[in-house]
Amino acid sequence: MIDDTIAAISTPPGEGGIGIVRVSGPLTQQIVTTLFSFAQPMERISSHRLYYGKIVDPADGHAVDEALVSLMRAPHTYTREDVAEFNCHGGIMPLAKTLELILAQGARLAEPGEFTQRAFLNGRIDLAQAEAVIGMIRARSEAAMHVSMSQLTGRLSGEIRQIRRTLLAVLAHMEASIDFPEHQDVEEFALDEVRKGAEKGLNDTEQLLETADRGRILREGIRTAIIGRPNVGKSSLLNAMLREQRAIVTDIPGTTRDVLEESINLGGVALTIVDTAGIRETMDEVEKIGVARSRAAIGEADLILYMMDITQKPSRDDLDILRDAKDKPSIVIVNKTDLLADIDETVKKIEKKVSPLPVLPVSVTENRGLAELEKLIISLVFQGDVRAPQSAMVTSARHKDALRRSRQSLVDLLAALDAGYALDLLAIDLHAALDALGEITGETVGADLAAEIFSTFCIGK
Ligand code: GDP
Repeated sequence: MIDDTIAAISTPPGEGGIGIVRVSGPLTQQIVTTLFSFAQPMERISSHRLYYGKIVDPADGHAVDEALVSLMRAPHTYTREDVAEFNCHGGIMPLAKTLELILAQGARLAEPGEFTQRAFLNGRIDLAQAEAVIGMIRARSEAAMHVSMSQLTGRLSGEIRQIRRTLLAVLAHMEASIDFPEHQDVEEFALDEVRKGAEKGLNDTEQLLETADRGRILREGIRTAIIGRPNVGKSSLLNAMLREQRAIVTDIPGTTRDVLEESINLGGVALTIVDTAGIRETMDEVEKIGVARSRAAIGEADLILYMMDITQKPSRDDLDILRDAKDKPSIVIVNKTDLLADIDETVKKIEKKVSPLPVLPVSVTENRGLAELEKLIISLVFQGDVRAPQSAMVTSARHKDALRRSRQSLVDLLAALDAGYALDLLAIDLHAALDALGEITGETVGADLAAEIFSTFCIGK
């Protein structure tokens, strides 16, 4: 039972047009009536309406700020408790003073994410939806925003519940048969239903798992490794891609340079360059490519951009590394095409050597081929379509891990069924699968884990 009242400044620190202090809990209404002097005498404050007036220090009657206040009575609020929002002037002092007055009335400072945590604890949203809230706030691309929004509206949660329902029905059949062991026909029917249900649950779990890679890419961006021998033009390419959008990027307030420095917007999807140190580093031994380092970069990448210089023959190292890259979407970029009068024959030779990887001739300095590169990336990583699909998607590592454990339990269950194990033994696997799924929506999650998830939120959310 939550019985205290929390408050926090919900807007980011610094100067702005307005700043909001949010309050939630049983003392909310009393705090509003004590601290807010309504412009017009007020018999009863209507819920979900915005009122104009002043925030007043009850100690001396001094007006602290001119403000708008809204009181939202439970249960139709963010937290399902009484909530008030004081819209103050967006500066450090008015907000700090307003918060201080609220705390003096008996509220306590909210922990990071505590408003959303209350929404979860009070059953307004489940854990996957709560995580989507932070996904919305942190989204750095349109695609990331869309997948978070879909999760926020409960699409993923709905799918998870559906699978759990299937498995709960299986559990009911198991229990019926365990309760009536003397009935052979009940037993046979139950076994049949258990198999059908477990297979359906497994199939649906696998379908969700299949969306995980794409979901992560949409949310976090395409992790891209730009690899190639020194001086082929890797940093020139990175800089050219960054330059194109720098104008847009630096205009977004609150975005830190170091995050965006290596993140390129590609038709609404972020492309994140991994191992930029490897690109920017100047090497003493110019001929060495750093095979080990390239392999490491390939390992963590979703996409490989392998660069060559058209005036140099592909080396043994080039071909070795490309062999490693074959399992992932890879593009061989042949740069400096401006240095050769006729490139066709050379490009054909390279194509033959690196087949079946696609080869793209470009000139970074003359800005040739870069638009084609972007198109090719989208078609390789997303088969041309970057939009988030209408169906549910898994975007978080935590959800993916839970789905994997659920899948394993169902695989174990089906194997045990084939081996003719007793039903009460199968029930152990079934419970494990149900619990793993419940972790995603928060039904079977421990208080510690939930608290850990909310602690990564911002203050005031
Ligand atoms: P990196 O070591 O692979 O990162 O290569 P850099 O980007 O530092 O480029 C090495 C040299 O190649 C620089 O002098 C670039 O100006 C030059 N360079 C890069 N791209 C091109 C290109 O398309 N054409 C020509 N002619 N030179 C280029």
